Amino acid sequence: MSRLALVALALAGCHTLDISQPIALRPDASFGEEERAILSAGAGCWNDEFGTDLRVEPEPAAGVVQEVRVGYLDFVCAFAAGRTENTLPVRISICPIRYMMPKSGASELYLRGALFIVLTHELGHVLNVLPHAERPEAVMAAGGSLYPYDWSRRFHEEDRALLLEGNPGFVPRSRCPGGHVEIIAASSTPRCVCR
Ligand SMILES: [Zn+2]
Repeated sequence: MSRLALVALALAGCHTLDISQPIALRPDASFGEEERAILSAGAGCWNDEFGTDLRVEPEPAAGVVQEVRVGYLDFVCAFAAGRTENTLPVRISICPIRYMMPKSGASELYLRGALFIVLTHELGHVLNVLPHAERPEAVMAAGGSLYPYDWSRRFHEEDRALLLEGNPGFVPRSRCPGGHVEIIAASSTPRCVCR
C-alpha cells in the first residue's frame, strides 16, 4: 500500500471528539428530569470505567468546548432504539422508549432500565467507538432485543479494545479502586457502581 493511501486511511479514522477532554452532554427539551438523571448515570459508567469526562450540562459551561445534544426523535424508531450522529455537531437521538415496548405494557422500572442501556451504548459511539462489539453482553454490542431484555450487559474486553482503537493514545484510567464498574440496569435508579 502506498504511503499516500496509508495517510488517507489514517485521516478516515480521525475521531470527532477528544475524549481526554470534557464533553458536555446537553439534553434538549424532550428530555425531562428523569431522562437527564439516567443520561448522567450512563455517563458515569464510562467515566468510572475508563476515566472519561462526560458531563450532563443543560447550559453551556465555561471551559467546556465539546458538546453533544441528546434527545428523543420519533424518526429513529424506524430503524433503531438510538442513533448517534458522529460528525459535528454530534447528536444522540433516542426512540421514545414507550414505542419499543409491547402494548401489554412494561413496568416503569423496565422502561428506565432500557433507556439506561440504550443511552450508555450511544455514549460509546460519542466516545468514538464506531463499530459494534460481537459479544452480545458487551455494552457496544449491536441491537438485541429490548423486550424481554437480558440485563447482563457489562464492559467487556472488546468494549475496551474498541475504545482504544477509536482513540489512539488515550490512556484509560478507572475511577474505581477495583478497576471496574458493575452495570445495574434493573433498578429504579439504573446506574453503575464500582465493584
Ligand atoms: Zn450502536
